Amino acid sequence: MEIVLATRNQNKVKELKAILKGLNLKFLTLQDFPDMPDIVEDGKTFEENAVKKAKEIARITGKIALADDSGIEVQALNNAPGVYSARFAGEKAADSANNKKLLGLLKDIPLKKRKARFVCVIAIAEPEGRVYTTEGELKGVIALKFAGKRGFGYDPLFIVPRYKKTVAQLSAGVKNRISHRSKALRKSKGILKQLLN
Ligand code: IMP
Repeated sequence: MEIVLATRNQNKVKELKAILKGLNLKFLTLQDFPDMPDIVEDGKTFEENAVKKAKEIARITGKIALADDSGIEVQALNNAPGVYSARFAGEKAADSANNKKLLGLLKDIPLKKRKARFVCVIAIAEPEGRVYTTEGELKGVIALKFAGKRGFGYDPLFIVPRYKKTVAQLSAGVKNRISHRSKALRKSKGILKQLLN
């Protein structure tokens, strides 16, 4: 079965493919549809955005589409940046700029008050409009400084207490076992298997 991964983020594509390995799926990405318009992410929740992306892409391509909307919620910032994670430091901001802004806002806050979570909502949509969602989270703490070179986004600042390391210091294999994205995707595997039949 063909499935369109409804994201332009190559890091997400890599993780999604690795986590879904083993299912009998042929992955297409938005690079296979160069004329696809940008979908405006104007939802107030991860779910709204994921559903909107998956539904639009499924409708336009006529294929099953899987969208991920994800981000980070920081307790001391009233759960910001949330759905604005990608553009925290401005429209099309680089990961490094978003990370620097986060560190700046948490400057005087001690480690034990820097609780955060990564959240991911996966939406799977059929061309006819049916849509299914699942959610996963990873709890952690925002580090006092950057550590690690792997991953993307806020990974160099996100400490996973169980490993006492940032996500950027973990191997891709470990990240893909414990991440918010892998938890959401694991929950959606049953849905995918049903759609395959
Ligand atoms: P989206 O493309 O609107 O879902 O943006 C998600 C943003 O949240 C990304 O640009 C990252 O900044 C952040 N994010 C989501 N998942 C991860 C992750 O696994 N590691 C680090 N940052 C992430």
